[in-house]
Amino acid sequence: MTNHALANPFLDQLSYCLLNHQGQIIDCSRKTAGLFGSSPEDLQGHSIVDVLRITSEIPATFEGMLSQANATGELRFEAEYSPAEGSACHFEATLTPCRIAEGQDEGALLQIWDVTHHKQLERKLRERKELFSSTFYQAAVGMVHVNMSDARFLGANNTICEMLGYTEEEFCSKTIMDVTHPDDILSDLDNTKRMIDGEINMFSIEKRLLRKDGSSVWTRLTAASVSRDEQGHAKYGMAVVEDITQIKEAQDALKESEERFKTLADSAPVLIFMTDTNANHLYVNKNYLNYTGLTYSDLLGTQWQNRIHPEDREEYLSRMASACQHQESLRAEVRINRNDGQYGWVLVSVVPRYTATGLFMGFVGSGIDITDKKLLEESLEKAKVTAEDLNRRKSEFLSMMSHELRTPLNSIIGYSSIIQNNMAGPLNDNQSKFIQNVVYSGKHLLNLVNDLLDLSKVEAGKMKITVSQFDLPVLVQDVQSMLNDLAHRKNITLTFSIQPGITTVQADPERFKQILINLITNGIKFNRPGGEVRVRLFKRDDDAWLIGQVQDSGIGIPKSKFANLFGKFYQVDTSPARSNEGSGLGLALTKELIELHGGTIEVDSEEGVGTTFTFRLPTVQTVVVKGTHNDAVRNSSR
Ligand code: ADP
Repeated sequence: MTNHALANPFLDQLSYCLLNHQGQIIDCSRKTAGLFGSSPEDLQGHSIVDVLRITSEIPATFEGMLSQANATGELRFEAEYSPAEGSACHFEATLTPCRIAEGQDEGALLQIWDVTHHKQLERKLRERKELFSSTFYQAAVGMVHVNMSDARFLGANNTICEMLGYTEEEFCSKTIMDVTHPDDILSDLDNTKRMIDGEINMFSIEKRLLRKDGSSVWTRLTAASVSRDEQGHAKYGMAVVEDITQIKEAQDALKESEERFKTLADSAPVLIFMTDTNANHLYVNKNYLNYTGLTYSDLLGTQWQNRIHPEDREEYLSRMASACQHQESLRAEVRINRNDGQYGWVLVSVVPRYTATGLFMGFVGSGIDITDKKLLEESLEKAKVTAEDLNRRKSEFLSMMSHELRTPLNSIIGYSSIIQNNMAGPLNDNQSKFIQNVVYSGKHLLNLVNDLLDLSKVEAGKMKITVSQFDLPVLVQDVQSMLNDLAHRKNITLTFSIQPGITTVQADPERFKQILINLITNGIKFNRPGGEVRVRLFKRDDDAWLIGQVQDSGIGIPKSKFANLFGKFYQVDTSPARSNEGSGLGLALTKELIELHGGTIEVDSEEGVGTTFTFRLPTVQTVVVKGTHNDAVRNSSR
């Protein structure tokens, strides 16, 4: 190995290498050797093509390299050196043919520069460029670059190409105007001009772009300038484009549905309003404005509250405040001052409204004018009071009259009975017949008066029953002996049957007797000679009910008359030719008496076959010892 012949502090700072004609290193500067982590001495004799890995496209052999260098004066190339440890170094080199010493074959001078750092920068730059490029092309929103001087596109990413149906090449042959809907061309002109002039750097706009097939797409476009010339004018710009067709369609649908709602609300013959969470009006329909005569701005404030009648205002507002607090519905009847200055009754109902996520937003309310209904109610109430008053006075009159009539009647019956019984002297046949008629008619009249008195008591709510425990067979015996004579005279067979085991019964005995007499008398009256009336008394439903049945074989009652049968003064046969006397009060009173006991009565009948009245009384009644327990006495509530 020869010495580092060119050792020299100055030369060692340079980057060179002397090569013989075979490309072997004759000598090199220390700086160059240092690039390979070596010394000039150690490198001597090594072939340069072994030390370096040449990356440029040049001849692979040193001989070839030398001949190419000879042809052009020098040969520039790039190479790499990979040390045993650490990362590769990159070099740029220039090979210049030269003869090292007289008589020797031509060698070469190799100048070499470490460009590793530069290469790394270059790589980073390339990577960033690729990153930017793929961000641009792969972005989920449309992106374009524009030359601001002629509005022509310089680049367009995949999203916008797909959105509008162009290839990038086709896109770049277009200008902004080419792809803008004709109706929207003017919409961003002003902003674009201001951006070019440097007044603004970016702006956003919604506009329609045209697809290649001529259809349009709604977009939100954000444009920005990306570089400016010395005068500050935008040279290049970029735009981010989002397809908002669906949003626009949804907005249009919403707008349409709002319009529809508004038309509907305005044409509805009711007052409609919408409030916030504090009951402040946010919306009112036309009818609301017409009704109150207020303007929209009045209603959006608190003016509407003054339209409520002073007597209703405080209560309504406090109920409304509570509805707000508890997010509750509310119904109220309030008087509202109308545009004609009069107060109208309005039925207001509000219901809470919520967002889709359940957030309380306030109320939707409606109001209906119920003034007519209120007036009707008032006049009905007045009429009711008047009718009740009249009814009460009628009952009082009847009661008074009945009392007045009973006294002389009793006297007539009493004295005529004395005469009838020959207690005032003997009577001839005619006299006896006539006095018998007087007694009979007097008794009939007394019955009528008694019925009238009872009914007037019921109507006045003063009829009371006094329940006690009595012996049923004894009471029935009593009834039988009272009616036997009548049955006999009418040639009717009257039979009674009581379910064995029934002895005592709880009821008002006088009224119970009256019920039986009324029903049996009818059975006899509306019968035919030779007919029969059967009375049955038994218990049902575990002895909970006492059932009474009065069945006759009489003329029957048409089913169409059933509904009115228990009405006052009702008679099925009202013809003057009817053979039976009566007042039409018996069944009405019987029903009242049964109901006062907590019972019911029903009728079944077939014309020409007969009629059955069935009444049911609860067997357990409040037992009242006469005159002591008035509170527990059953009272007519009507
Ligand atoms: P009154 O017998 O005094 O006319 P009621 O109220 O007792 O009044 O009866 C009303 C009407 O019902 C009678 O007029 C009669 O037409 C009809 N009616 C009542 N009971 C019978 C019956 N058992 N058979 C046929 N009709 C009857």
